[in-house]
Amino acid sequence: MGNFRLGHGLLRFLEEWGGALSDVIFPRVCQVCGCALVKGEEVLCLDCLLAMPRTNFHKTHFATPVVRMVATAKIDRMACMFFYSRKSGYAAMLKRSKYNGHPEIDLHLGKRFATELLSDNFFEGIDVIAPVPMYRWKKFWRGFNQAEEIARGVSMATGLPVVHNLEAVKPHSTQTRKSATERRSLSVSYFGVYAPEELEGKHLLLVDDIVTTGGTVAACAQALRDAVPSIRVSLLSIAHTTYT
Ligand SMILES: [Zn+2]
Repeated sequence: MGNFRLGHGLLRFLEEWGGALSDVIFPRVCQVCGCALVKGEEVLCLDCLLAMPRTNFHKTHFATPVVRMVATAKIDRMACMFFYSRKSGYAAMLKRSKYNGHPEIDLHLGKRFATELLSDNFFEGIDVIAPVPMYRWKKFWRGFNQAEEIARGVSMATGLPVVHNLEAVKPHSTQTRKSATERRSLSVSYFGVYAPEELEGKHLLLVDDIVTTGGTVAACAQALRDAVPSIRVSLLSIAHTTYT
């Protein structure tokens, strides 16, 4: 017992010392305001977390982007963590994760947001999580797909499995505002569904980092419905561009 306590204490000591040491080598700072993070804070400081411009779309079903997305992409429900405005610190945080290679930011945000949504029963009836796929060469050059990292975080919080049945068969532009017909051709040419029988009758949660016009989401949802008519699709994203 004594040995166990000693071992446990030693482990705690090494853990804390190791944590302090890694803070010196990789300083832990808030990705929004740059202040030093205190124990218990991760990625963002408490002030920036509280000041985050929340969309609360999952609580306000009549918000314009929700109505539009339900109509165009025929999704069941959607949740977006915060509003994305180009010059904000929150936008800088997402850009840093994407272009400076910090997938742990996406993973953390996915996990945190999903933990919050659990208490609102957002995941009720959802069977699987699928990240918006990235074309393989783009993923190769970037080293990761941020939507996949967010999906992993959501899975860690909810226990729901991540599936990779949706594939990007060609590189696609995310800045798309297209008609239903154009979207249909976009979905057919850009996204493919692997082993569609695995998704039969499932409610799938599509996960992306930033939703702008919703063109990519609509194209993914269309590709899924074309391959699996019985599927239901919902959406979770970290950010949604501000709208008028
Ligand atoms: Zn901060």
